[in-house]
Amino acid sequence: MFRALLNRSLDILPGQNLIYSLPKAGVIGDLMTEIPLHKHCLICGNAVRPDENFCDELCESKFKSAQRKQQLLFVAFIVIMGLVLFLPSILKMKG
Ligand SMILES: [Zn+2]
Repeated sequence: MFRALLNRSLDILPGQNLIYSLPKAGVIGDLMTEIPLHKHCLICGNAVRPDENFCDELCESKFKSAQRKQQLLFVAFIVIMGLVLFLPSILKMKG
């Protein structure tokens, strides 16, 4: 009877280990799978599907207008840089 009890307790122990180890493995699995499973909206940071960059059309239009503004700023920067670079030679030509 004692032996049977011991056997049973031995049977329970690995089971308990399994129960304790399973949630841990699940947590690690979640952490590893959670990162590629979803993305965040580029504007407001809401979670979105991995094949989308924005949560709605408003955020997408905001991003597009911001992108256009950035392109305009870039063009303006290039023009100003060109002026700064060529201004001395233009002044020399005049003077
Ligand atoms: Zn958004």
